[in-house]
Amino acid sequence: MMIKIIVVFAVTAFLVFFPEIFPRCEYCRKIKPRRLFQFHKSISLKLTYKGNLSLCKKCCKKYNFTSLDRFRKHMRVEKRMEYTVRYNL
Ligand SMILES: [Zn+2]
Repeated sequence: MMIKIIVVFAVTAFLVFFPEIFPRCEYCRKIKPRRLFQFHKSISLKLTYKGNLSLCKKCCKKYNFTSLDRFRKHMRVEKRMEYTVRYNL
């Protein structure tokens, strides 16, 4: 009985802390170890990947994301371009 509780607790803790130890990059959608990330920020109280905004060093370097605001601006521009391509052709 006691062992069952410990196992459940361990699994829960693992699931909760997994996105902290291995975040997912918001841009390339890859899961990498925490040390490969430049930005890692909680944006909501959800304890899953949806609750975090993370950017890996590779994407930051490649697309020149010096801050999360720059990343948001980049995404906005990209979305607008996608929209234009889809509906204006
Ligand atoms: Zn990335």
